[in-house]
Amino acid sequence: MDGLNKSMYDIGSDSAFAILARSQELEKQGRKVINLGIGQPDFPTPPNVVEAAIKALKDGHHGYTPSNGIKELRCAVCDDFFQRNKVKVDPENVLITPGGKSIIFYTLLMFGEPNSEIITPDPGFIAYKSMIDYTGAKAVPLPHRMENNFSFDAEELLSLVNEKTKLIILNSPANPTGGVVPEKELERLAEGLQRFPKVYVLSDEIYSRILFDNLKHNSLLKYPEIKERVIVLDGWSKTYSMTGWRLGFGIFPKDIFNYAEKLAINSHSCVNSAAQFAGIEALKGSQKNVKQMVEKFKTRRNYLVRELNKIKKIECKKPGGAFYVFPKINKDHMNSVEISKYLLEKKFIATVPGSSFGINGEGFIRISYTNSMENLEKFIFCLKEFMNE
Ligand code: PMP
Repeated sequence: MDGLNKSMYDIGSDSAFAILARSQELEKQGRKVINLGIGQPDFPTPPNVVEAAIKALKDGHHGYTPSNGIKELRCAVCDDFFQRNKVKVDPENVLITPGGKSIIFYTLLMFGEPNSEIITPDPGFIAYKSMIDYTGAKAVPLPHRMENNFSFDAEELLSLVNEKTKLIILNSPANPTGGVVPEKELERLAEGLQRFPKVYVLSDEIYSRILFDNLKHNSLLKYPEIKERVIVLDGWSKTYSMTGWRLGFGIFPKDIFNYAEKLAINSHSCVNSAAQFAGIEALKGSQKNVKQMVEKFKTRRNYLVRELNKIKKIECKKPGGAFYVFPKINKDHMNSVEISKYLLEKKFIATVPGSSFGINGEGFIRISYTNSMENLEKFIFCLKEFMNE
């Protein structure tokens, strides 16, 4: 097939979805698969949020909404953002999108082009690199090392910036490691970026509400020296267990907002209106479910980190956020793809190989602990068996 735009051959995919498809295939064959692969909470959307969507449909909200999103929803986003980060955001800078992923897509279409460079976390969320590759820009990996609790070093990041750098992508708390970037590193970065006034930053803060051990989220928007160059991505998928609703948002600087909005108009027009009403209720209603979910995640994280570190030749850091652990597994020179494949095909446990998140992910596997304690215990049992085989 050679009639396509050449960039199409460079676009990547997300192995978590391929693993999900294989797990479903195995289940059809009668196997019971424990899914620790896909990154979505195992809780239902809070009932008050579901009710708000039903009410919106019954009230006749069936048509297009403004392309940037319902004003009340954008205001709710700004109120919530202020409450959490003490940063004032104008609702005119907020773009509501079908999931946070669209913000990655639009931002990379806006900045990526051949002969330019984009710095991206490695290991990092798969969509960053595949979209950078699609635009023809060069993806410059920013190592997030286990020794550094899967954070980055601001000096190292700044040393990667040159005249070709258009954009830096950051993600804290992070997928796939759960790593949280300390405030002092962000401060050093914000200060250092003043030397590079043309470089923008996409700060993916989709896990900002899933933090443990009294850690506080630090939005990159809180640094006035770079505020005009920061794009924030967040959404409802993880915080409110709403992955299937497709609802996210971006906060764009004034001077580029209308380009992002044009991309939205030309692709999805607007987000499903009932989902937007549900989004208002999620932000304004009780936050009890979020709190309970984070507590449950914390119990599971503690269990996994403790048990994984008891196994010989496995090392696991205690992540500060998100719902992933990213243990290093040393087994008979098997690489992460081989380990993950073995666990799925022989033990019926779905995980994601670390190498799919970048070269620095080799030797690790991602475990999404969005599953019951009982299944996590089974996983530990099977992993011990595997390590002894
Ligand atoms: N950013 C990161 C780091 C993610 O892990 C995900 C989802 N896996 C997204 C963005 C996209 O989320 P959404 O479902 O809202 O598109």
